[in-house]
Amino acid sequence: MNELERAINLLKHRAEIIRDMIAYNMNFEPKSDNSSLEEQKKAMDVAISSLEKQIPKKRYIKFPCSYCPTCNENITDESPNYCPNCGQSIDWSVEE
Ligand SMILES: [Zn+2]
Repeated sequence: MNELERAINLLKHRAEIIRDMIAYNMNFEPKSDNSSLEEQKKAMDVAISSLEKQIPKKRYIKFPCSYCPTCNENITDESPNYCPNCGQSIDWSVEE
């Protein structure tokens, strides 16, 4: 597991804890204000999905076109190494 994957796992774990705290409050502290926790959870989710897009994924091919594995956008060979629509890092290598 590389540093990026470790960071993603750690953030996912923290996001779970925050989700559990919100659930606890809703069940046992119904008057508590969860807006700060909700905001943290949202920020964590954005960070996680942004980091996940940095891990290259293979494009999928429906001949003659290539598509982003994350958002299904049609991507061309002239694209840089990421999807111009969602930012997913693209692995252009072809399996033998
Ligand atoms: Zn995409």
